[in-house]
This record gives sequence, structure tokens and C-alpha cells, in this order.
Amino acid sequence: MIIAIDGPAASGKGTLARRLARHLGRPHLDTGLLYRAVARDLLDRREPLSDPDIATRAAGSLDLAGLDDPRLRSRDMGEAASIVSAFAGVRETLLGFQRRFAGQEGGAVLDGRDIGTVVCPEADLKFYVTATPEERARRRQRELAQSGEPSDFADVLADIQRRDARDQGRPNAPLKMASDAILLDTTELDAEAAFREALGIVESRMRA
Ligand code: C5P
Repeated sequence: MIIAIDGPAASGKGTLARRLARHLGRPHLDTGLLYRAVARDLLDRREPLSDPDIATRAAGSLDLAGLDDPRLRSRDMGEAASIVSAFAGVRETLLGFQRRFAGQEGGAVLDGRDIGTVVCPEADLKFYVTATPEERARRRQRELAQSGEPSDFADVLADIQRRDARDQGRPNAPLKMASDAILLDTTELDAEAAFREALGIVESRMRA
């Protein structure tokens, strides 16, 4: 079973994807890490984030074994990732890997922005996870504090709103809910409640 989970930054989709994958014993791919890693490689080589050809080359030479680098989780890397992810060449280059990952026997859980719309339009189950920008900013601020990166709430909220606008407004694979996705609004749900709700839907789909 392929489960596609999309949604905006800090909506809880990553936590949900990880928990579902662990519970079902299936592999999980956080596709945001791919874009973050392209951005990291460009920044490490002091190359511009704004050049589509240079960014596409960086995507082509990405070391997929290095996705556990803790630097990928930083706020700056999220911002930089949303710049390079707008380029068609970068997206095209990363598409094959994502599709192969999804296509492994027994399926997989993938989360991102375009999994249900572009990467796996044939997914068995699609969730679109969202929450208000203010709630997402509160969560992101908490996560940053836990990883030793204190931040100002207004700055984090502005980051989230800028990233939403960029991800939803780009012409290539913009963030949007697939027509056959199930909406999960987590504004009033903690991680456990969101997981229970999604798991109930997965289990009833498996029985069908
Ligand atoms: O999900 P995460 O915050 O790690 O994603 C970082 C950025 O990577 C997003 O803001 C988005 O621009 C980009 N992204 C994307 N498509 C995906 C996953 C992430 O464009 N499938």
C-alpha cells in the first residue's frame, strides 16, 4: 500500500508519516529532506540558490546516503529548500528516486508537498494534513527550541507564511490538495489524536 501525505510546513505531516510507517512496518521517505539536501550542498559549495541549472546539477549529484545530517532540519535550510524546489529541473531530477522508493514491494509512506498530485497520483491512500498558520508556527517554534535554536514567534510565523505562499504559488508541482485526498486538520489535534484518526482510515481501507 502506498500512502501519500502532503501538507504545508509544520502541519504535523512528517510526524504522522513516521508513526504510520512504523506502525505498519513500511519504509518512510520524508521528501522535504531531498530538497533540503540540495540546498545544503549548494550552500556548502558557496553556489547560488537562485540558478536553476546549478541547482539541477546539485540535485543530480545528491548523495542520498547523507539525508540524516542534522543540519538539514534547520530553519534556514527549510527556507533555502523552498527556493531550489521551485525549479522544474530539480524536481524532475528527484522524481525517479521518489517513485522507485514508493514502488518497492509492499509499498511505502511518503510525505511532502506533491506526493498525491505528482509523485504518486496512483497512491492507495492520500492525506492532506494542515493546521492554521499560527498553530503551525507555535509547533515549529517549539521544535526549534528543542533543537537548541530559539526563535521569535512573529519571525517563525512570517517564515511559514512566506513558505506557504512560495510552495502554493509556484508553477511546478505547487502545494495543493489532491482531489481524492482526505483532509486532516490538526489544529485541534495533538500528534497522538492525528495518528489515531489516520490509522482508523488506513485500517478501514485495508479491510475494504
Ligand atoms: O517538508 P519540509 O519543510 O522539509 O520541506 C522543505 C521545502 O521543500 C518545502 O518548503 C518545499 O518547498 C520543498 N518540498 C517540495 N516538495 C516536496 C517536499 C518538500 O517542494 N515533496
